[in-house]
Amino acid sequence: MSTREGSLEAPTRHPLDWRNPAFYDEKQCLDEMERVFDICHGCRRCVSLCNAFPTLFDLVDESETMEVDGVDRKDYWSVVDQCYLCDVCYMTKCPYVPPHEWNVDFPHLMLRAKAIQFRAGTPTAFRDRNLSATDRNGRLATIPVVVQAVNAANRMPAARKLLEGALGVHRDAWLPPFSSRTFRSNPPGSAATEVKDGQRSPGKVAIFSTCYVNYNEPGIGADLASILNHNAVPFVTVEKEACCGMPKLELGDLESVAALKEKNIPKLAKLAREGYAILAPIPSCALMFKQELPLMFPDDADVQVVKAAMYDPFEYLMLRHRDGLLQTEFPRALGRVSYHVACHLRVQNIGQKTREALQLVPGTEVNVIERCSGHAGTWGVKKEFHPIAMKIGRPVFRQATEHPGGEPDWVASDCQLAGHHIEQGMAPKADGKIAHPLTLLRMAYGLN
Ligand code: SF4
Ligand code: SF4
Repeated sequence: MSTREGSLEAPTRHPLDWRNPAFYDEKQCLDEMERVFDICHGCRRCVSLCNAFPTLFDLVDESETMEVDGVDRKDYWSVVDQCYLCDVCYMTKCPYVPPHEWNVDFPHLMLRAKAIQFRAGTPTAFRDRNLSATDRNGRLATIPVVVQAVNAANRMPAARKLLEGALGVHRDAWLPPFSSRTFRSNPPGSAATEVKDGQRSPGKVAIFSTCYVNYNEPGIGADLASILNHNAVPFVTVEKEACCGMPKLELGDLESVAALKEKNIPKLAKLAREGYAILAPIPSCALMFKQELPLMFPDDADVQVVKAAMYDPFEYLMLRHRDGLLQTEFPRALGRVSYHVACHLRVQNIGQKTREALQLVPGTEVNVIERCSGHAGTWGVKKEFHPIAMKIGRPVFRQATEHPGGEPDWVASDCQLAGHHIEQGMAPKADGKIAHPLTLLRMAYGLN
């Protein structure tokens, strides 16, 4: 039977076989890398997505044979280092993903390699473990007095130089300030009590605030709460939530992902079974529950229940709209909005719900930028990757600056970290213009 060029069927994804000892067998992983790299070398569709593919193709082109067999296997790890697991190659480009018989899953192969690297220990393990401990860092940094000291140090070039030397955090990378009041220490109250289920949307919400919103920008969570109140949707905040695990997954630290899952899933599954829609205002965190945990724990019924109840906030709001239950009176126009679709939202395969919601606002011109900003979680702040992160983001910075209607009034990304990375790349043209889409919608509703 001949092999068909590209699959015509809907992509499927195999569970991650991470508990099988063979998953950690380095030789088997390198063999699989050689197989997949060879397919990629013959294809090269993904060359412009990130730096992993150009790194691979340069290795091939500079080798003696100009084929994958000419590349020293030791150099495969330089490809792994450049992948930040955005999933875009799998979800939007690759025609050879399952059910195609070539069974290419580039991001999960990189994840396997990262897991092997993590177990073996890397020279940057100390820095990587610290950066990915978002929950612990947030708890420490938001202690009164400490928070002012951390934020002040963050702004001081001398302190940033020290941080770069000690921890490998690039001195020029934007780092989020910590809030003196976390979202969960002061949760907004729900105004509505009556639960109105729609045909497509549950009538009550549980807010999974995420580490970033809880410790760094609680205002985004408050904006979501205001929008829910305005739309008469009763809500609760998830109590004692832990990090979703995405920063640990990006390191290949799968045991820590499993430990965090044990903390979150029982309470989220209870809320899901009680009929709550669970909303996470950071796309990577929602994706963790929608995709990565279900693939790591395919037989865990609670994980599957949470998967079905997890929504991106705008996905939920547009379902409310389809159910005829969303307020569509907007007293305030937003003008020109340069809107960046974060990769981890793109790969949720829900369509451009944020764009659709913002376009409901009269006097609003949304220019969509569907390209990687380069920030990629903690990857883009690391000393060795930050310059590449800025390079990857350049087309996004340019498109965000050049709104077809003229100078943008607002620059927004569903991933607020990407938003700030874009702000840095556009500087000073985006100063004062970065706003999360939930903030923009709250403003359009005329809510304080
Ligand atoms: S998952 Fe993202 S970063 Fe990794 S290789 Fe694919 S496109 Fe590049
Ligand atoms: S991941 Fe798929 S689409 Fe991308 S270069 Fe490899 S084979 Fe081609």
